[in-house]
Amino acid sequence: MRVDIEDCIERSCPYCVASGAISVNADADAPTPSEHLAGSMRALETLQFDNRFVRSLPGDPNQERHSREVRNALYSRVQPSPVSAPRLLAWSEPLAAELGIQRPRADDDAAVQILAGNALAAGMQPYAARYGGHQFGSWAGQLGDGRAITLGELEGRDGQRVELQLKGAGPTAYSRRSDGRAVLRSSLREFLCSEAMHHLGVPTTRALSLVSTGDQVVRDMLYDGNARAEPGAIVTRVAPSFLRFGNFEILAAHGEHELMRQLLDSLINDQHPELAPARAEVHGIWFETLCRRTALMIAHWMRVGFVHGVMNTDNMSVLGLTIDYGPYGWLEGFDPDWTPNTTDAGQHRYAFGRQPQIALWNLSRLAGALMPLIDRETLEAGLDAYRVEYDRLHRAFYAGKLGIAAIADADDERLLGDLLGLLGEVETDYTIFFRRLAQVPMTASSDDEAQLLEPLDAAFYTAEGRQPEQRARLLDWLLRYRRRLAAGGLDEAARRARMDAHNPKYVPRNYLAQLAIDAAEQGDTSVLERLLQVLQRPYEDQPEHEDLAARRPEWARHRVGCSALSCSS
Ligand code: AMP
Ligand code: MG
Repeated sequence: MRVDIEDCIERSCPYCVASGAISVNADADAPTPSEHLAGSMRALETLQFDNRFVRSLPGDPNQERHSREVRNALYSRVQPSPVSAPRLLAWSEPLAAELGIQRPRADDDAAVQILAGNALAAGMQPYAARYGGHQFGSWAGQLGDGRAITLGELEGRDGQRVELQLKGAGPTAYSRRSDGRAVLRSSLREFLCSEAMHHLGVPTTRALSLVSTGDQVVRDMLYDGNARAEPGAIVTRVAPSFLRFGNFEILAAHGEHELMRQLLDSLINDQHPELAPARAEVHGIWFETLCRRTALMIAHWMRVGFVHGVMNTDNMSVLGLTIDYGPYGWLEGFDPDWTPNTTDAGQHRYAFGRQPQIALWNLSRLAGALMPLIDRETLEAGLDAYRVEYDRLHRAFYAGKLGIAAIADADDERLLGDLLGLLGEVETDYTIFFRRLAQVPMTASSDDEAQLLEPLDAAFYTAEGRQPEQRARLLDWLLRYRRRLAAGGLDEAARRARMDAHNPKYVPRNYLAQLAIDAAEQGDTSVLERLLQVLQRPYEDQPEHEDLAARRPEWARHRVGCSALSCSS
């Protein structure tokens, strides 16, 4: 993170020197990074919030909480519902530093009351957004923020504005028959994964805090008639905007075209100042930008092995950010057909390998909604841009994963395709395999077969991967790979560095999140804390945390929460 001279209380601070902002001789009494930051960090309750969305766009005149169909409005103002005994369970130090917000010192701090929905800071004008969506391929009508409430906007230290949004803060106009709450297990999963994704370099919404509410929430986790009370929680999410494809789709569905134009103009104004001043074709340029950003997000998901699990159009961000972490999962054994979401078990619509084409399908639904504003040809050009951009990035990322300069020709494509085929044949950990591939000695002199294969052993879940026939095929592939590397000209150190920057060592594996949940439900947040720390540096070897980079243990193979998740949250 860059430290700016304006932020610094101490003109001779070495961190400003490091950033190149000033040049002085640092002394031994210089402040530590946290002391440095403390000077400009402020308590949440003292901050002044803005709310351009509410200020400039039409809302629902009704401010009550009861569920209803809303028309001719983009949002409904609503106050969060109070909770009984909030406790701060987790706090994102990196995000707080970017925003200049101090960690609350105690659970009875005013800041914790705000993060729990019991109080508001100056300028906050809470609202729930109106949106619809296509769910599992069908139009679902009005959905909306049924349990998310946006509090207001804040300027980060880099000058970028972000919104703070509580998830699980009680009912809104869009709660339908549900309670507006969220349970600890799903909230912890969202908090952990969105911060991990950020550090992995994947575009995502962020999470500032995780608060337990002190109230119980009843959920039937497997939808099998066994409802039980679980601890409730609230995540404070942070993003420049939480608008989804569905915010536009609902307006198209009801013929509210003027409102749609207003929403799009305000989005472009607020989030894409580079596209201003408005020109006639600005809407089309914006759509193409979104298509490209979505391609980038999906290419990253495929690179790191992330499966969103519920890619409905109401869960697709108009900024190309990963949003709404529900029954997501991380690939363990490489399997394009895998989905963690039990609700999707029959169809596998949102399985890992389908994500690129589902994103395109979703963009096409959005394009359909935008027809009153943008002509068909321009929309189709945007969808084409998605295809081209996804293909380009996918190749670039996999070239990085293999440590070659580019997937340059049909031979390279076969090399990659054959490898993925091999990985799918026997249960092979996607993360471990690619990370370890960098360690396979690839100089021409290394002819010892055992030496070539040994680094990859840790990636196999069963003895099948170590059978002679399988080893022979893998060896054959490794020798082809070696010839390709020799032709490419990267030396071993450069190849490894390139691969290590594309292949994370640490990802928030499903079972690790579950271990953090088990502990947190017993009042112990140390497992979560450790994961958060390690996942801040996912591409670095951290020898003391080797256990967090290991294969999923067998006990987790069929345990609910580790291998299968429902939408119940
Ligand atoms: P999700 O599957 O979490 O993306 O949610 C789909 C829709 O259901 C959104 O409109 C959510 O706001 C709504 N929803 C999910 N859970 C709840 C809940 N507990 N209370 C109210 N609305 C909910
Ligand atoms: Mg959602």
